[in-house]
Amino acid sequence: MNNFNFSKLTRKNIQTLEAYVAKELPCKIKLDANESPYCPIPLDFILSMKKLFSTLNRYPDPETRELKKILSEDLKITPENILLGNGSDEIINYLITTFGGPILYPFPSFVMYAISSQALGHRHKAIPLDENFDLDIDRVIETIKRLKPRLIFISSPNNPTGNCFSTEKILKIIEISESIVVVDEAYQPFSSKRGLLHLMKDYPNLAILRTFSKIGLAAIRAGYLIAHEGLIKEVNKVRLPYNVGAFPQAIAIEAIKNKRIIEEHIRLITKERERLFSELSTIEGIKPYPSEANFILFKVKDALEVYKKLIEMGILVRYMGNVVRDSLRVTIGTPEENNIFIESMKISLKSFEANSKRKRLK
Ligand code: PMP
Repeated sequence: MNNFNFSKLTRKNIQTLEAYVAKELPCKIKLDANESPYCPIPLDFILSMKKLFSTLNRYPDPETRELKKILSEDLKITPENILLGNGSDEIINYLITTFGGPILYPFPSFVMYAISSQALGHRHKAIPLDENFDLDIDRVIETIKRLKPRLIFISSPNNPTGNCFSTEKILKIIEISESIVVVDEAYQPFSSKRGLLHLMKDYPNLAILRTFSKIGLAAIRAGYLIAHEGLIKEVNKVRLPYNVGAFPQAIAIEAIKNKRIIEEHIRLITKERERLFSELSTIEGIKPYPSEANFILFKVKDALEVYKKLIEMGILVRYMGNVVRDSLRVTIGTPEENNIFIESMKISLKSFEANSKRKRLK
């Protein structure tokens, strides 16, 4: 019994699947997961949630009614256009469970589109972005015509490249395909470009995905889908009961009530993003890509070595060399964290330079 072979029983499509790894390395400065460095909920509010503590024996509102109501008022849509999830990850899973494959998405992009497609056993295809990380529209159209997908995921701004795709290109995809096009706007709050919410009424097959995770509330695990009520009705059939806890619901409501705090944090983060971008641009050997999100992707020689060196110095970023050659992705932190990151980058690049000079002299 000690060596029971579980993988023999695992479904074939799961056997070859690699688990999503979110590294929890003990670093002083955590700039790897595109979280916000700021929390928008004051401690006083958390302490005032007494009523909730006395009802811990009860399930949360299964329909997240109050949260949907305040969200719908904020977004100027109706509550029937919204579905809440335990993070937008869960909603990606629900969408694939509901509509199935083939599923298309660009590459590189958010890895969960591929993982969930494979886990649920559906055909899925990544379409490479062009050399500017833009949608290769001819290739996308050709693939849509050939594969007739049921679902297309487009992250805009895109993770990990940071750029937005043009609205015209996305609309072209929506118009020519008979599939549901999910525009994942996890990073939209940091973008200077307008999101696609205002176009929803003209395109019933356009669905928009948003999250509280990037704006300071990653711990509560709350994301939401905004779509035609017919689409929401279908996805709701597979939603697990009570999928959003009582505390996440209460905290998300409070966050929307005080959205000025979040807006101020976003202002600080985008200002820092621009500063970090110019600082990185001045360091020899680094090529940062412009970003509309709360992170910057940059190329650097010996990316894996630099990544390890940064960890030694107490800074965790994300190694992206497996999707974009020689690249790292850094999340925008507080000004202090960003300064330490910049200084550490300079130090580690200098130490590599000195090492390679020494090697050349030998
Ligand atoms: N979409 C994109 C593009 C992301 O980068 C992420 C998080 N990395 C998510 C969705 C998932 O966010 P969450 O599940 O925390 O809402």
